[in-house]
Amino acid sequence: MLSDQDRIFTNIYGQHDRSLAGAQMRGHFDGTAGIIAKGRDWIVNEMKASGLRGRGGAGFSTGLKWSFMPKDSDRPAYLVVNADESEPGTCKDREILRHEPFALIEGCLLASFAINAHACYIYIRGEYIREREALQAAIDACYDAGLLGANAAGSGWDFDLYLHHGAGAYICGEETALLESLEGKKGMPRMKPPFPAGAGLYGCPTTVNNVESIAVAPTILRRGASWFSGFGRPNNAGTKLFAISGHVNRPCIVEEEMSIPFRELIDRHCGGIRGGWDNLKGVIPGGSSVPVLPASVMGEAIMDFDWLRAQQSGLGTAAVIVMDQSVDIVKAIWRLSKFYKHESCGQCTPCREGTGWMMRVMERLVAGTADPAEIDMLIEVTKQVEGHTICALGDAAAWPIQGLVRHFRPEIEARLHQGRIAAE
Ligand code: SF4
Repeated sequence: MLSDQDRIFTNIYGQHDRSLAGAQMRGHFDGTAGIIAKGRDWIVNEMKASGLRGRGGAGFSTGLKWSFMPKDSDRPAYLVVNADESEPGTCKDREILRHEPFALIEGCLLASFAINAHACYIYIRGEYIREREALQAAIDACYDAGLLGANAAGSGWDFDLYLHHGAGAYICGEETALLESLEGKKGMPRMKPPFPAGAGLYGCPTTVNNVESIAVAPTILRRGASWFSGFGRPNNAGTKLFAISGHVNRPCIVEEEMSIPFRELIDRHCGGIRGGWDNLKGVIPGGSSVPVLPASVMGEAIMDFDWLRAQQSGLGTAAVIVMDQSVDIVKAIWRLSKFYKHESCGQCTPCREGTGWMMRVMERLVAGTADPAEIDMLIEVTKQVEGHTICALGDAAAWPIQGLVRHFRPEIEARLHQGRIAAE
């Protein structure tokens, strides 16, 4: 279990002083100029060595991403922080924005310096109104204290931080759609390549990182890469915010060591499964886009990128959605299909048409009126969508259905059987 001394987020529940002075008492902005004085290469190498993998879902090495930024460029560089957090089940960044904004702001300064950016934009989800207010107040306090602006934190680096409020479209959480939206255009994903490090915001080199990835950076740089990489299994380093919702006795957000067993996570922090472990039906372990896993797998689960991927699911954002036996699992996945259909930007045909097809077949599965042959047909459609679209929303729509059929096919077939009997 992660000890309190090793927690990065010491005020994640907002129980302590949330002012800048309170945050500084807890160690934020301690020696920031000294870290910057160590130089760009030192920071990037330390982040690489820490093993931090992006906390927005894709799990790509954060240090490596920073190293892709051009060293010499005649164009300005930008850091963009993705605070759009719209994946159903995911609400971990919200707690950082509300209660730990100074961790994020200091991270923005250090990361921007490391990628040669004098400006950073935080793109915050439209529905996060109180969070925007809290973060803006924190940014203002930092400007007043000289921690942002010219010679930020006495480091000699000029740095401006802007907060941009989105309008509530899920697709704007996709990094290139986010950049389009930030530029004032419709939030539609761009074709890649070019990747943002080559041509991002306003066509300039840009790094897009998740809130949590940036907010943990200052502590990693203060305490050292080896401290951070000491947690979790190899290739799955560090501490992580887990957001556990659904049928546990005490849903919560908690910072824990990566690779914690699922049972320990739930028993220690959530008071166990509602009705006991025998009542567990399935778990979506990383936000709505990753495939559901049944109780038989989750009983042994290790909560990290590699273990969950080996089970054909994923850690994603570590938004753990727990479902007990009371859940109509077919209907639950149908609801996700409906969500993805609604949120498709419509730019590419497999996603625009496929999400609608998948949702309509799922509707018939829920009603029990589909032909049993449609189950295989549905899987075929998911394969036609998966990997054939501009952005990952197509995959996100396909995977929950694939997980459902992989693990709960007998339940679907029984429902279709009952439906046929009822119709006769
Ligand atoms: Fe838009 Fe869907 Fe294509 Fe993504 S996959 S670009 S959301 S149509």
